[in-house]
Amino acid sequence: MSRKGIPRSRLVLGVFLAFILAAPVVLPEFQVTLLNYIGLYSIVALGLVLLTGVGGLTSFGQAAFVGLGAYTTAYLSTVYGWSPWLTLLTGLALTFVVSVFLGFISLRLSGHYLPLGTIAWGISLFYLFGNMEFLGGHNGISSLPAISFFGLALDTGREFSYLIWLLVLLSLLSMQNLLDSRSGRAIRALKGGGLMAESFGVDTARMKIVIFVHAALLASVSGWLYAHLLRFVNPTPFSINAGIEYLFMAVVGGAASVWGAVVGAGILTILKQWLQELLPKLLGQSGNFEMIVFGVLLVLLLQRAREGIMPLAVRFFPASRTPIPASSQALPQRVRPVVGELLLEVKSVRKVFGGLVAVNDLSFTMNSGEILGLIGPNGAGKSTVFNLVTGVLPRTGGEVHFRGERIDTLSARAIIPRGLARTFQQVHLLPTMSVLENVAIGAHLRGSKGAISAALRLERAEEAMLLAEAARQLERVGLGASMHEQAGNLALGQQRILEIARALSADPVLLLLDEPAAGLRYQEKRALAELLRKLKSEGMSILLVEHDMDFVMRLVDRLVVMDFGEKLAEGLPQEIQSNPLVLEAYLGGIE
Ligand code: ADP
Ligand code: MG
Repeated sequence: MSRKGIPRSRLVLGVFLAFILAAPVVLPEFQVTLLNYIGLYSIVALGLVLLTGVGGLTSFGQAAFVGLGAYTTAYLSTVYGWSPWLTLLTGLALTFVVSVFLGFISLRLSGHYLPLGTIAWGISLFYLFGNMEFLGGHNGISSLPAISFFGLALDTGREFSYLIWLLVLLSLLSMQNLLDSRSGRAIRALKGGGLMAESFGVDTARMKIVIFVHAALLASVSGWLYAHLLRFVNPTPFSINAGIEYLFMAVVGGAASVWGAVVGAGILTILKQWLQELLPKLLGQSGNFEMIVFGVLLVLLLQRAREGIMPLAVRFFPASRTPIPASSQALPQRVRPVVGELLLEVKSVRKVFGGLVAVNDLSFTMNSGEILGLIGPNGAGKSTVFNLVTGVLPRTGGEVHFRGERIDTLSARAIIPRGLARTFQQVHLLPTMSVLENVAIGAHLRGSKGAISAALRLERAEEAMLLAEAARQLERVGLGASMHEQAGNLALGQQRILEIARALSADPVLLLLDEPAAGLRYQEKRALAELLRKLKSEGMSILLVEHDMDFVMRLVDRLVVMDFGEKLAEGLPQEIQSNPLVLEAYLGGIE
């Protein structure tokens, strides 16, 4: 907040809107044209901010979707005389179909293969536009009709500017809504590989398709606008070069804010214009020298400011807090088992990685309300047992039963709603997201509203309940005061507690904690032990993998000891402590 009480971001937005309203009237023709192009590029770059910046999926092929939107309207409005508004819808439908298809085939590719795949179909579509006789070949299609808006024909660049920027603002707004929602959190969790999101029930493969299609539709809208602004299309602006420039804009803007798309498009468009005038004069010959400067700048940027330039700009604005909307309703809770009831049965479970038997016919049971310790030397197979129980890894053999139901045949997404939730040996959180939002990911499967209702802000009641639940769990574990901080700023001990709160948000009956005390200081370990005792007293069952013997012995009811994938011993802490087999296997090295 500024001292006068108006947030600085509001002020900048107000100035920007005033500029957009006044510019087409007061600026010279040439600058209005530049502004129009910035708007067109912003819409495409916004899709890439979502796809690449936020979702971590690189696409060089966006220009092809711009072309799809442009050619659809060019063809249908000139040959069949369709209204441009109808061709907009047709173009979107066509882009939807094509992008779902391309998404399915290319999003399976991993690592460098995905960008290569996007280059491949980007080039294919470009040549398709140029070689189709009915699309006018390399000469393209001309004499497109003007778009009319409530009877007013938008046939000058000045008038058209309002339509472009109206669509830019609507795209920005709906994107911001989307990112600030249950689906948005799932999308933001894709970047780190998605393992964490997947284990809280996010369908990551589907989420990838959603952002891919969303980005393609935005590109298509930009193409439609472009075609009717110029009233002419040919293949050149939809080449792979343009695809690279769009990606460049998104990288320059960065993913810190949706406004990065406008900033990136603005900087590159103006810079390009300026360099195109300056460089030939400077070098005394004509040529596309600006591309060389762009290349150098991109390399510099990737080295110096990986996150684009928006984070630098955003620092100027005080961080806005995710408000926790008042919610009168709480999320429904699971019926909890009676303390002492048989909860988890692991029967001869086996996991083989290549030639390595990581878990060798392991069996144990666990009762409700119990803290069971699973200990053993490094590499004994403890984390693998977690992955088998939670369905993250398919087992080689054996069965797992939970509350009397067989679960080893189910997917991770089907297991979570039955009441299991976990933390990770390596902390898995989204460092730039707030603590509250991180914890809300745990409640993903307790909500159901998707990306479209989020973009239209129709899921506010559910969203309020999800955030209220996350806040409640943060209070429960004693992190309530840090709710609005960035998760990455927390100390490791607090990050591990955050993971527990996130798991609790799934409303579990059984909590699986993988080495929660690793790397914690003495005081932090005591606080953690305190918290686990409190959860147990509230009826929670906990399966605890831990390395620190001292920590485990004072906390657990019973212990299962593993070594080389097998069960070495099982019993009360005192029995285990004096078991010669355990002492030899587990403590032998320490002596
Ligand atoms: P712990 O958690 O007890 O330290 P893990 O369950 O992580 O042990 O690992 C058990 C054994 O299985 C180790 O030898 C480890 O290298 C191997 N292992 C674990 N995960 C995989 C995997 N995804 N692929 C191949 N080997 C694995
Ligand atoms: Mg482990």
